[in-house]
Amino acid sequence: MKILSINAGSSSLKFTLFELPEKEKVASGLFEKIGLAGSFYTIKLNGEKIKKEVNIPNHTVAVECLIKELLDMGIVSSLEEIEGVGHRLVHGGEEFSEPVILNEDVIKRVSYYNEFAPLHNPANLLGVEAFMKALPGVINVGVFDTAFHQTMDKEHFLYPTPYEWYEKYGVRKYGFHGTSHRYVYGEIAKYLGKDNLKVITCHIGNGGSITAIDSGKVIDTSMGFTPLAGIMMGTRSGDIDPSILEYICNKKGITISEATNELNKKSGFLGISDISSDARDIEDAAANGDERAILAQNMYSDKIANYIAMYNNMLGGADVIVLTAGLGENSSLMRKLILDKIASLGVELDESKNDFRGEFRCISTENSKIPVYVVPTDEELMIALDTLALKEKN
Ligand code: ADP
Repeated sequence: MKILSINAGSSSLKFTLFELPEKEKVASGLFEKIGLAGSFYTIKLNGEKIKKEVNIPNHTVAVECLIKELLDMGIVSSLEEIEGVGHRLVHGGEEFSEPVILNEDVIKRVSYYNEFAPLHNPANLLGVEAFMKALPGVINVGVFDTAFHQTMDKEHFLYPTPYEWYEKYGVRKYGFHGTSHRYVYGEIAKYLGKDNLKVITCHIGNGGSITAIDSGKVIDTSMGFTPLAGIMMGTRSGDIDPSILEYICNKKGITISEATNELNKKSGFLGISDISSDARDIEDAAANGDERAILAQNMYSDKIANYIAMYNNMLGGADVIVLTAGLGENSSLMRKLILDKIASLGVELDESKNDFRGEFRCISTENSKIPVYVVPTDEELMIALDTLALKEKN
């Protein structure tokens, strides 16, 4: 059966159409600049890509366009073939710890968390509403970035702030990238044939987070109340001393929002290197001897190594370390920098196995105390599989 996996942003809508249970990617594409001048979409089918520039004033029109193309291009012969639509939803607060079937009531409850993720949740829900209109009667399922982390215990999700901040205002660690961490955990557990594994999953892409998982339960994760926390990222600072905010606001005469924006958009690789947020540009500059690019790489690998060491301790010794997402899957150099920094844990990289991109592979030596695997992530597939599972249950 065919299931659509959707990731709607404020001005974009990304889709992948899967044939399940075969896990075959039938088609995928992206609608961009929705509601802006110059909107267009691209669709990939059988290795070919088409691009069309059309006026797309809102998400409803984007979804109408998508459905028309699916029919016109012969990707589906009738709309009845699409048996479910899974949506990435960023924030489900403490209420949603699992994927959920979406209806008007659930949408209202999800919107309660909009203020926790103002850039993402309202946009995600625009996608949901557009599909409900376009494909009435088809099941819509919401899969939350935060859900997997709801298995964390209080001693790990609470900040040592006044308890009232948590009780009255919901200040706690929620964690993100949960769908990716859950997917790669599932893949490695399946591969090793064990369901009681202690795993440290490192999702290191443009955004990044590290998670400690014991037998499918999250023990701790590096992102926090928002995706700004944890390791250094492409443009995000990760953890810093919170007092810096007031100090820099006073010094620069800027507001908290402006300073927070700098931490989100002008920090990380970009902030340190002054070159780019993209790890490939940093690698090129570092290869040419750029000191700040080298500094950025060293800081980045340091933060990740330190989280791995901390989580190894929390787990009482990890069974496996998994690297995934843009850098984890593709950057041999960053994999080496990170693994060299956790040599004290007995981790040993096998350099002869490290020169590759985007494959499932073990990259540690036989002597390595903790084996290290690269496991390509697939959040779209996870969302489609969750949608199928809920469809079959109901
Ligand atoms: P997003 O968080 O946007 O989904 P990705 O997981 O796609 O991000 O990761 C993007 C990051 O991965 C970028 O910094 C990019 O430079 C990096 N990356 C992708 N391919 C390579 C590569 N071959 N070498 C080094 N870095 C890479």
